[in-house]
Amino acid sequence: MEYYGGHIGDLIEELGKLPGVGSKSAQRLAFHIINMPKEAVERLAQRMVSARENVRYCKRCCTLTDKDYCPICSSGARDESTIMVVENPRDLAAYEKTGQYSGTYHVLHGAISPSLGIGPSDIRLKELMQRLSTEPVKELIIATNSSLEGETTAMYISKLVKPTGIRVSRIASGVPVGGDLEYVDEVTLSRALKGRVEL
Ligand code: ZN
Repeated sequence: MEYYGGHIGDLIEELGKLPGVGSKSAQRLAFHIINMPKEAVERLAQRMVSARENVRYCKRCCTLTDKDYCPICSSGARDESTIMVVENPRDLAAYEKTGQYSGTYHVLHGAISPSLGIGPSDIRLKELMQRLSTEPVKELIIATNSSLEGETTAMYISKLVKPTGIRVSRIASGVPVGGDLEYVDEVTLSRALKGRVEL
């Protein structure tokens, strides 16, 4: 940012490193921050640091949480015979919002993508397989995105799990191809869940 330099230039540069923030957005955010009350900026910075320090993966489903186990895993009221596999915590939140699902989740934190060099060992698949061998699971619902990576991941997991005898299903199409699950409305998600097909 040659026009600004110094502190504002540094701030724009850091903000521009965030995903989805282009150089225009980085400038807009930086100017917004400069004009915020000093206490509000301190609170924002503090929240970022404490979230980074305190948030960890749930020891069971791998979603992000403050404690060893997330609220869903520790609720005791969820159906433990069903696990829904999602790519990230935002997808988990999208399904929770529908209020139509009472099982547990497993968050992969990504999807298999040979073109990006992301293999099975780069996502939380080992943790899922470990759960399947220790928990009384009857059905695995694969709710990865309908992108190429999501489909590849679904197929891979299906092949891995089918020999164990656990029922493997895939959420129904109707979730737009390539669309991130978090942007799909609740009615569509509920329908995709109800219309899931066995793999
Ligand atoms: Zn959990």
